[in-house]
Amino acid sequence: MKQLHDECGVFGVFGHPDAATITYLGLHALQHRGQESAGMVTTEGRHLNLHRQMGLVVDVFSEDVLSRLSGTSAIGHVRYSTAGSSSLQNAQPIKCMFEGGALALAHNGNIVNSDELQGYLKKNGHVFQSTSDSEVLLHLVATAYYDDIPKAVSGMMDKALGAYSMVLLSPDKLVAVRDPRGFRPLVMGRLDGAVVVASETTSLDLIGATVEREIEPGEIVVASEDGVRSIQAKPAREPARCVFEHIYFARPDSEVFGQQAYTVRKELGRQLAREQPVEDADLVIPVPDSGVSAAIGFAEIQDAPFDMGLVRSHYVGRTFIEPEQRIRNFGVKLKLNPVPELVRGRVVVVVDDSIVRGTTSRKIVEMVRARSPKAVHLRISSPPTRWPCYYGIDTPSREELIASSMSVEEITKLTTAESLGYLSVEGMHRAVSGAGKGGYCDACFTGNYPVRTDRNWPPQRHGRKK
Ligand code: AMP
Repeated sequence: MKQLHDECGVFGVFGHPDAATITYLGLHALQHRGQESAGMVTTEGRHLNLHRQMGLVVDVFSEDVLSRLSGTSAIGHVRYSTAGSSSLQNAQPIKCMFEGGALALAHNGNIVNSDELQGYLKKNGHVFQSTSDSEVLLHLVATAYYDDIPKAVSGMMDKALGAYSMVLLSPDKLVAVRDPRGFRPLVMGRLDGAVVVASETTSLDLIGATVEREIEPGEIVVASEDGVRSIQAKPAREPARCVFEHIYFARPDSEVFGQQAYTVRKELGRQLAREQPVEDADLVIPVPDSGVSAAIGFAEIQDAPFDMGLVRSHYVGRTFIEPEQRIRNFGVKLKLNPVPELVRGRVVVVVDDSIVRGTTSRKIVEMVRARSPKAVHLRISSPPTRWPCYYGIDTPSREELIASSMSVEEITKLTTAESLGYLSVEGMHRAVSGAGKGGYCDACFTGNYPVRTDRNWPPQRHGRKK
């Protein structure tokens, strides 16, 4: 079975008269985490009302749809997945009826032993409606149920391996849970006395909620008529917070894992300039939006002017959204265009957060070069992305990851830049956590996977050029 890699955002609210509208807004602020489908389940205490559809939050929830999603509690989801698995069937939340009544679930992350678990469940007569690992989680909760949903969620945690930050809704409870490694973020807060949970603090900011705290790794939080209960269901393991949330994925105005993403990104740029300065740089320009914060930090240490030398069209989404390479190539041009007067005759440093397949950087260097700069240097505020992520960030297979088969010199040639400089793994950790590894997962850069997966364990290290 094809394993899905979901990049997603989740949201939940318990005990608010405008649950659907609040969830709509909460999801809107998480749109960057997934643009393929959006969905919501609400409850007025008896039924679960579901609406999910392919598309962006603004298109999925019309006024009419929202007015039909009645209730005082809700969960919501935005989803992005790799090509081939885009279908409404895999959209979330997913809803079912089981021994304990009605239940819905919305999941961010990726379960690494999902195939194994699904195989076992199928042999025992379970039937599945989708190829999503999240449906496996719902089956595990149902299987572990005796008389209490939080206990069943804890039972699920005994079986599922990997990354899950998720929310579940029954007619009388909202349950939020984070895996024992805490791969993906999940925060909780309050709005007019209601409990709210979201992947990122931007959601809480938008609805005017106060941010209370992160949900801890291994913790289950239950909101019901009886109030809020916290259960440390599993002991927290050595944390494996996703470093890529800080590098690229989260919105810069979010506080992620207790730190402002913007500040961390700027520090990544500063560290990059310390490690990979460009002699005689006249101008530092970011690849908007992903490279902006790092480029500001880079320019500061490089002591060179920062300017918006590339202008972005705001009517194009993330370049990755196009499943086909052909369209992706064109997508870069559709999205970005240089300001000729700024780059002409100058030594230009272009800063971006990462190189994945190499499409974006090659096209950008080409575009800037066409405006007659003196030189184009490329600087990347993360190390070479060499390994696929199995914990919920969409990365292509190893073959498609340019840095897994090419050396930095070869990639430099391919991009046609005068020089290319990546941040070191050590420098990245220093920028993110002050020193050492600091409890972050860096598997996409190092191949050191903190939780085993059948397909990547042990990682194949041979065949890679240095
Ligand atoms: P590529 O063109 O394949 O090298 O992709 C690099 C660009 O995609 C960079 O500008 C990144 O900001 C962005 N990017 C990196 N990782 C992801 C991801 N997982 N999803 C979407 N975009 C990404």
